[in-house]
Amino acid sequence: MKSKVSIVRCDDYTLDNIRSAVHKSFAQLGGLEKFVKKDQRVLIKPNLLSAKDPSRAITTHPALVQAVIEEVKRMGATPILGDSPGGVERGIKRVWENTKMSEVAGATGAKLVAFESGGVYERKTEKGKKYFIAKPLLDADVIISLPKLKTHTLTLMTCAVKNMFGSIPGFRKSEYHRDAPKPGDFARVIVDIFSLTKPNISLVDAVVCMEGDGPSSGNPKYLGLLLASTDAVALDMVAAKIMGFKDGEIDITSAAQEKGLGARSFSEMEILGENSADLSAPKFILPSNRFLKLIPKFLLAPLRPLVWVRPGILDGNCTNCNICVDNCPTNTIRKGEKIPYFDYTDCINCMCCHELCPQKAVFLKKSWLAKKIA
Ligand code: SF4
Ligand code: SF4
Repeated sequence: MKSKVSIVRCDDYTLDNIRSAVHKSFAQLGGLEKFVKKDQRVLIKPNLLSAKDPSRAITTHPALVQAVIEEVKRMGATPILGDSPGGVERGIKRVWENTKMSEVAGATGAKLVAFESGGVYERKTEKGKKYFIAKPLLDADVIISLPKLKTHTLTLMTCAVKNMFGSIPGFRKSEYHRDAPKPGDFARVIVDIFSLTKPNISLVDAVVCMEGDGPSSGNPKYLGLLLASTDAVALDMVAAKIMGFKDGEIDITSAAQEKGLGARSFSEMEILGENSADLSAPKFILPSNRFLKLIPKFLLAPLRPLVWVRPGILDGNCTNCNICVDNCPTNTIRKGEKIPYFDYTDCINCMCCHELCPQKAVFLKKSWLAKKIA
């Protein structure tokens, strides 16, 4: 059977527009009642990457979260709102407040759950690889994932499959980065985690997305859509197409397809709603280090001394908060008197520092030749 992908126009984040677009998205997949039953516990998992205001387009918009919670409550089920935000060691309360999830919880009565404090279950993939997954997520009867569509300097794009990486509490995320330093290996880690936490439905916030050097230092990009599916892999393929990536360019999607976790081609999906012709026009500014992925693998190693991209710090933006230092999986970043500094010897280019810096102070530093090619 073909995977259904719903595309619904949603002009803005006013609650009435969002409510009607959310309802239509679920209706196109057969109605929420198909997935959520009375008295079930429904874990709603937005992308709360950092403690930033929704206008920055870094996190899932609170209006979407609220509209989904309202739909879940209409089914007679209990909504639970949870995530494991980056840099959470600075306090989860700040994240809930700045992303406006506290307001959503106040308006709907949904419980807020920080995955850091809820404990973990050990789960193994079919190949025996161990992962530690947040208990509140696995204890739920139903999982609804609410990704934010953004570019990403490590994985090129973050959407439905990548959103489930947030099922791993706190610092373990850095360990998984360290243990899988190559982008292809890290994609397989993401897919392993996704396979252990598969959401029943994914509903993507693609009203205002992020383009450029996301997932936190890019710029907001208006798209005006909600995308939904029970097949997160199909959803990612559609999202990648809309953004302007080539088929097969997103490692996470390829790794998920290798594992048989979703549609392998557009012929295996049925697109419902907005005209599918909209998918053909590239509209996003893609990450500035994307060109590295386009260099044939056999040339990468010999070219590395000449063509490189690595993180650097903009003195003027840095507040010396040391979030990058605390979250670097290889201790490449050291505390400095005014700003941190890098000893690149062990850098694995995971871009966690770029992703988690709250001040857009970490930038992608390029060699002379890399600048010419980019
Ligand atoms: S680069 Fe960013 S994360 Fe690192 S210390 Fe400066 S402001 Fe904080
Ligand atoms: S310096 Fe940045 S890119 Fe390099 S390993 Fe540390 S967090 Fe990753």
